[in-house]
Amino acid sequence: MRDAHGRRIDYIRLSVTDRCNLRCTYCMAEEMEFLPRRDLLTFEEIETLARHLVGRGVKRIRLTGGEPLVRKGIVELVEKLGAMLGHGLEEVTLTTNGTRLPDMAEQLFAAGVRRVNVSLDTLDPARFARLTRRDAFEQVMQGIEAARSAGLAIRVNAVAMRGVNDDELGDLLAWCGERGYDLALIEAMPLGDVAVDRRQAHLPLDEVRRSLEQTFTLLPSLHRTAGPARYFDVAETGTRLGMITPLSDNFCAACNRIRIAATGTVYGCLGHDQKVELRDIIRTGGPEALDDALDRLLAGKPARHDFDIERNEPALARHMSVTGG
Ligand code: SAM
Ligand code: SF4
Repeated sequence: MRDAHGRRIDYIRLSVTDRCNLRCTYCMAEEMEFLPRRDLLTFEEIETLARHLVGRGVKRIRLTGGEPLVRKGIVELVEKLGAMLGHGLEEVTLTTNGTRLPDMAEQLFAAGVRRVNVSLDTLDPARFARLTRRDAFEQVMQGIEAARSAGLAIRVNAVAMRGVNDDELGDLLAWCGERGYDLALIEAMPLGDVAVDRRQAHLPLDEVRRSLEQTFTLLPSLHRTAGPARYFDVAETGTRLGMITPLSDNFCAACNRIRIAATGTVYGCLGHDQKVELRDIIRTGGPEALDDALDRLLAGKPARHDFDIERNEPALARHMSVTGG
């Protein structure tokens, strides 16, 4: 699949639910109205869509949400996708808050998952409770440990926010390094109405890098995953530091992905409303109609997002949990 800007699309972010058992302040409001369950694609429909997309050249699928592991029966879906590995599909991964990994890490590994991104913005349990509005720090710690012992490679994702967790990003990098985990820092994006004042919390990662370089030797790395992170090798730990900089350093020219919401709405870009609706087409349209809709999406895929931290309002009303991070 190629879009109108010549970019090859071979990576899918698939949100399996917009629900979550945490309420991270930069992602959700405390009171959220979630999608009715009847509107979600069934696992069979997701499998049909995934198979079709793999047929069109998709090599990697990342399950996300909301929290993907709170959807009932999720391991079954991962098993279905895992069965496509080696038949066009090269990787199935997940982004998770880690709370359900204690029970699920081994099953995910058995289904073919080899690495996971686990979100963790702080090592301080009280700060964690404030940031996520839930008391789940220990669960996440156990989840990360369960993933490690199941054999999953781990990248910790942390949203870097001024005045919130900027004082402990070095500790987080050291903590990850001691355990052999990569760390990716993310600039907070203006999506959906939430409690955080994003202008105040905005922290360009260039600034973070300069501050981390007082303690760590960061060597630009050629390492790439399918996502937008630019990596550094951390000489002291042998692990990597990724930087995801949607606001301070635009990476859209190399975009290789589209995003499927749990309802079957497919978005060309996290930062735009350009979309096609696939649910009814999957249900009744057949493969040609699916191709037509995907081609329409690719033709209109925006050149770049237009997030602007100076605008004191969300770029889109849609929360991150709908399209998946
Ligand atoms: N619940 C899972 C989790 O937290 O990892 C998966 C979904 S979550 C939306 C995916 C990633 O997006 C997480 O790493 C989260 O920290 C990040 N995220 C959420 N809202 C964000 C925002 N407004 N800007 C930047 N990153 C955000
Ligand atoms: Fe839930 Fe992930 Fe959003 Fe936090 S970032 S509220 S864990 S979906």
